[in-house]
Amino acid sequence: MKITFWGVRGSIPCPARSHVHFGGNTSCVHVAVGGEDLILDAGTGLRGLGRSFQIRGVTRATLLLSHTHWDHICGFPFFTPAYDPKWSMRILAGHLPRQGGIRSVLASQMTDPMFPVPLDAMRGASAFEDFSAGETFTLGSDVVVKTAPLQHPNGATGYRIEHGGVSFCYVTDTEHKPGQLDQNILRLIEGADLVLYDSTYSDDEFLAKVGWGHSTWQEGIRLCRAAGAKRLGIFHHDPDHDDQYMRGVASAAKELWKGAFVVREGRSLLLEPRTRGDRVTRAPSSYADIRIVIARPR
Ligand SMILES: [Zn+2]
Ligand SMILES: [Zn+2]
Repeated sequence: MKITFWGVRGSIPCPARSHVHFGGNTSCVHVAVGGEDLILDAGTGLRGLGRSFQIRGVTRATLLLSHTHWDHICGFPFFTPAYDPKWSMRILAGHLPRQGGIRSVLASQMTDPMFPVPLDAMRGASAFEDFSAGETFTLGSDVVVKTAPLQHPNGATGYRIEHGGVSFCYVTDTEHKPGQLDQNILRLIEGADLVLYDSTYSDDEFLAKVGWGHSTWQEGIRLCRAAGAKRLGIFHHDPDHDDQYMRGVASAAKELWKGAFVVREGRSLLLEPRTRGDRVTRAPSSYADIRIVIARPR
């Protein structure tokens, strides 16, 4: 399972010198697994991923949306492969079965006078599917996707992707109740190899942001430790948190729990099951930025 971060920021893109190290694009994560190309969220990072697909000749993908707040869908109209009728893209969301469905919500951001090109022009966006957060389904022949509802205004869905003995969870956007671990999230991330978690704030900042729908990197650590997850990827960075601030988060988080790290735009991770002995699996040499995470044996 190869995971690439095209956008790691929350709320609004922030392309500034002060944010270039961790990245300014909003949520978009690519997961290449079991012959499938999965996309988690359609923030502004999606534009670059679309270009990468075109360069590499990818013609099929599945988009899994956490929810439809702007920062998670504003890259969607700029995903150029989907305008190609030879392309095939499934789009799934778990928070809208009783709110009109994902197709009508995405169509509503591509209407006059906000955007000149209608959703109908995306001939390669071939299927729009709504499910209820909490359901489990399979993509391709054997990629298992488990889901859970999150605590967020207008709803959101957390994902767990399992294949070949490794598991990756994508849990954003969500708000916790201090002193009360979210049982839905604990079940979803149990024993996972890597968890990306809504770490918009620190515990200190959170007190002034109750009700805003987001969580903290410290809560991410508490959840991962309680659920026996192996690594926490601190994700959905606040636009007000520049590189200097985020470097501070990275070292403070590492000190609290060595499994924690801050996710950076442009980086990739390879999740592979340990084969035999302790031999470290080499990354493909064409990806300069790959870091290796060795998962537990199957
Ligand atoms: Zn968000
Ligand atoms: Zn949101």
